[in-house]
Formats: sequence, structure tokens, C-alpha cells
Amino acid sequence: METAEKEILRGGQFLVKETKCEDIFTLEDLNEEQKMMRESTKEFVDRELWAHWERFEKKDYAYTEECMRKAGELGLLSVAVPEAYGGMGMGFVSTMLVCDYISGATGSFSTAFGAHTGIGTMPITLYGTEEQKQKYVPKLASGEWFGAYCLTEPGAGSDANSGKTKAVLSEDGKYYSITGQKMWISNAGFCNLFIVFARIEDDKNITGFIVENDPKNGISLGDEEKKLGIHSSSTRQVFFNETKVPVENMLSERGNGFKIAMNALNVGRIKLAAACLEAQRRVLNEATKYANERVQFKTPIMNFGAIKAKIADMATNAYADESACYRAAKNIEDRIAIRQADGNSHQEAELKGVEEYAIECSILKVAVSEHVQHTTDEGIQIFGGMGFSADTPMESAWRDARISRIYEGTNEINRMLAVGMLVKKAMKGHVDLLGPATAVGEELMGIPSFDTPDYSELFSEEKDMVARLKKVFLMVAGSAVQKFGPNLEEHQMLLMSAADILIQVYLAESTILRAEKNAKRFGEDNQATQIAMAKLYLYRAVDIVNQKGKEAIVSFAEGDEQRMMLMGLKRFTKYTNQPNVVALRTQIADKVAADNGYTFD
Ligand SMILES: Cc1cc2nc3c(=O)[nH]c(=O)nc-3n(C[C@H](O)[C@H](O)[C@H](O)COP(=O)(O)OP(=O)(O)OC[C@H]3O[C@@H](n4cnc5c(N)ncnc54)[C@H](O)[C@@H]3O)c2cc1C
Repeated sequence: METAEKEILRGGQFLVKETKCEDIFTLEDLNEEQKMMRESTKEFVDRELWAHWERFEKKDYAYTEECMRKAGELGLLSVAVPEAYGGMGMGFVSTMLVCDYISGATGSFSTAFGAHTGIGTMPITLYGTEEQKQKYVPKLASGEWFGAYCLTEPGAGSDANSGKTKAVLSEDGKYYSITGQKMWISNAGFCNLFIVFARIEDDKNITGFIVENDPKNGISLGDEEKKLGIHSSSTRQVFFNETKVPVENMLSERGNGFKIAMNALNVGRIKLAAACLEAQRRVLNEATKYANERVQFKTPIMNFGAIKAKIADMATNAYADESACYRAAKNIEDRIAIRQADGNSHQEAELKGVEEYAIECSILKVAVSEHVQHTTDEGIQIFGGMGFSADTPMESAWRDARISRIYEGTNEINRMLAVGMLVKKAMKGHVDLLGPATAVGEELMGIPSFDTPDYSELFSEEKDMVARLKKVFLMVAGSAVQKFGPNLEEHQMLLMSAADILIQVYLAESTILRAEKNAKRFGEDNQATQIAMAKLYLYRAVDIVNQKGKEAIVSFAEGDEQRMMLMGLKRFTKYTNQPNVVALRTQIADKVAADNGYTFD
């Protein structure tokens, strides 16, 4: 079916509409060109990054820069850049693929890569004038120049619009003079261009500028930050002291900087999620090889149930994360295509396409960054004492993974954003939350059906469960909105719980739909492990929804209302056929062990 004809969910609508498995894109749908792209990215990683991971640990910043140049020569920096500006102009899925598979070896490189191709280049391709794009984008796409993004300041982190950096227009009106201090700037040590956000006069919102890096123009750098991880990613303070920037280097309009910053971060967030995928697969592969070889009590430790449980959960998380990331990526790609078909320029279409799925971008950023943390932690545990040694890659993988929960908006901020944006969409009428929430309320007042449902078809019970988990969110969020109205944002613990429910719904549904789609086309036997992973993921999601739902309900409902909602929660999270989780984990781990790694991507 043509993209334009296909029913494509709008951002956030996954919560209130059913998605058919045929309508989601999965990694198994990659075309030949994309598969080749993936292979050449993997080859690059093995050859240039993985083989030299120790150099990245020894703070060899020059080596990171050298690898960035090589990535440029291979075209890996230009995948997302339109052809008109020297790029490959590939679709959103392909750009996600490169971010994914380039991230496996070291967080140092994936941070440099993400900061350059994402937040360092995208603001110009998305908001730049034709002249700005012609002047800067080809150089950035080829790797002749590198970019960095200067938003954060010592006093302005999560509260990004509160920066003190000033931009003052010269008397002749020809340039702005920028003065201020930026902090935690990735790629600062070797970049040629900064995207800088500064305030003009007492404007409510900051403004974006393209600033060429020239030490003679009042730009100086702090020392390299001493960091827990990503040791070879250059992170420095950047000081601007009356730096002259021609007026034609303003990005978009005066006061539009906060919007640019946030939209750049939307793209950055989903790509960061992708950049936490291959990191998980590689750690799992190393952990599997180790567990198969390491003998204790005269048996490979892989044979121990305690280890199998870890391997199964690590594989399941990776599979779920892939499912959700590529589902959202294709939604974005399709939305961009629809907008272009409607006459939008590529620039407008891409901007609006990603903005549409900002909720999903936040969900993915939180979920996948927390899974990579868990996987690297269990990777260390499987390696035992050797995992704690800096001579094995587990230790650095664990440290490198930690940053993903902090940058591109902390996970707390992204949790609040995910729920907040959804509520806003509902208020604007873009997603009908109220109708379904009212229906759930009515359902709770009615008498439940005592019929035993027919769950003989593959995933019928699981899909029913996902539909009920959505009801939990609607029940909790719907009542909370009614109770607190616009003051909901003050109830952060409640928002955190609601966000966790939302995250689990999206991930569990995506995983089940992927496994279902593949079972239908490749056969259930062929997909037995993937089916088991989808079931295991859902089981764990149900537990989380139960716990978070309870916390949320008792925080604001009392008496009969509380009893009714708790009863609803119990009803909505009840399995008819309780899955045998031990059997599922054993089945998954045995397959990963037999394949000596993760083979589901
Ligand atoms: C290695 C590294 C690289 C980076 N690269 C870049 C870069 O290239 N460009 C750039 O501009 N920035 C960059 N950053 C900055 C990064 O985006 C910020 O660190 C991040 O946004 C958090 O800001 P902060 O550190 O000031 O923490 P704060 O904002 O001070 O947050 C501290 C804690 O408080 C919580 N918190 C803050 N506000 C709220 C709230 N309203 N409600 C609830 N909790 C809240 C946070 O979630 C966090 O847990 C980088 C940071 C690091 C460490």
C-alpha cells in the first residue's frame, strides 16, 4: 500500500487506537540498500573502533577525531543530509540504522557522532536559510568540518531557556556580539562550528546562531572535563567574549531558539535511543561468549539458571527496544513523506514529522537508555571479577552507558515531557483521551464479563492485555487530569508513575506486534524465541504497570473512588493464563547460548 493511503497513527495515538501488526515496520523489513548500509557501518565499527577500544579509554581525543574523519570519507556523516547539500538524503529509518550500528564499540565515538550529525548539523538543515545551508552543510556532511551544540550553561541545564549568554546587535546592525559561558559541550575540542543559543535584550526566549570557531574572535575553551565515561569524547566549556557573529548567521528568527533547541533534541532523543541498541547487542554477545566459556563447578556458567535469567532479560530488552525504535522511525519517515506529498518542503516536512512523534521520542530515550544501563550492569555481573577489570570491555561499556540517562534531556525531564505532551495533545483535540478515559470509567461501574475468552490464537491474550494496560493509563491519567487540571505538573511523583505506564505500553505493544508480524510471515516455529521474548517483555511490563498504577492511584484517590480504581487495576492486569516465566527465560537463554550471541536483528 502507498504510504499516503496507509492509515498511519499520529503521535501519541498508539494509546487510544489499535495497531495491526502489518502496519508496523520492523528490522526484518529493511530493504537491500539498508542492509548494505548496516553491513558497511558494522565493518567500519569493527575495523576502526572495536579493534582499538583501549585507545578510547586512554582519552585519545585525536583518535576520535581521526575516526570521525574516516566516517566522513565513507559517507556515514551524510546519511541524513539532503542530496542538495552534499548528503545521501536517505530516509529516517536509514539514519536510525547508522546511529544504531555505529554505537556498538564505544560511547566516546557515538557521542561525537551524535553531537555532530544530530544537534550539530540538524539545526542548520532544519532551520537554516538556503545560503546558510549551502555554506555550511556540505562541509559538515563530508566531515571536512565538525559541529557542536552550545545550549547548556552553568546555571541553565534542564531549564534550558534560562541561559544568560547575551547577543547584542552592533550599532551598524551588521553583527551580533555574543558573550557568555557554555558548559558540557561535546566535540568542543575539535569542532569548526558551534550552534549557539543566546538571549537578545530581555527576550522571553533565546535565539539560535551559527558561530564559526575562531580563537581570534573571542572564543576560548576550558580544559577537557574529567568524566566517568565516554573518555575520548571531547567535552569542554566554551567561553564567548564579544564574539562577532554576522546577522545573516542567525538561525531562523529572533526568539525562536528555544523551539529550535527542543526540536533538535526531539530528533536527538530518538537517535540516542538507537545509539543504545548496538551497545546492548555487543555487550550481550560478549557476555554470552564469556558465559559459554567460563567454567565454574565443572560446568560453563551459562548452564546456571541465575545466568540464563540475565541473558534472557538482556536479549528481551534489546528485542523490545529494536521493535519500538524502528516502529517509531518508520512512522516518522512516513509522516515526512506524506507532508512532502502535500507540498511541504523537505525541511518543513522533516521538522513537523519528528515533532509529531515527540512523545514517542521521549519514551524511547528513557526506555532504551535505562535498558542499556541494565544490560551493561548485568554484563559486568556475568563476567564476575573480570567484569570489574578495566581490561575487559564490560567496565567501560557500563561507564559509557551512564551518560545516556543524563544528556538530551534527563530521563526525569523526558518522563514529564512524555505525559505532559500527551495531555496537551488531548486538550488540543489531537488525541482523544477523554472519550476513551470516560469509557474506561463506565466500564469500571459496570458488571465485568465472566465469560472465559478464547485465547487460542497466537498473542490473542497478550494483545488483549496490552489493550487493558492502555486502560490503566487512561484511568490513572484521566482521573489525575480531572482532579488536578493544569496543576498536574506539580505532582511529579504521579507523573513519573504515569510515564512508566506509558513507556511500558509502547514497548510491550511494539514487541508483540513485531513478533506477531514475523510469526505470520516466517512461521511460528521459526519465531519461537521472538514470541517468547514478546511474552516475557509483556509479563514484566504488567508487573511495572501494576506497581506504578497502585502508587499513582493511592496518591490522589480516596475511599470508594480509590477502591474502584484499584479493583480496575487488578482486573486490567490479570492474566487468564499465567505465563511460565521460568520456561520463557530458559527458552530464550538456550537459543542465545546456542547461537553464541544475539541473532534476532
Ligand atoms: C558528557 C556530557 C555531554 C554533554 N553534551 C552537551 C552538548 O553537546 N551540548 C549541550 O548543550 N549540553 C550538553 N550536555 C549537558 C546536558 O544536556 C545537561 O547536563 C542535562 O541537560 C542536565 O542539565 P544539568 O546537568 O544542569 O542538570 P540539572 O538540570 O541541574 O539537573 C539535576 C537533576 O535535577 C533534575 N531536575 C532538573 N529540573 C527538574 C525538574 N523541573 N523537575 C524534576 N527534576 C528536575 C534532573 O533530572 C537531574 O536529575 C552534556 C552533558 C554531559 C554530562
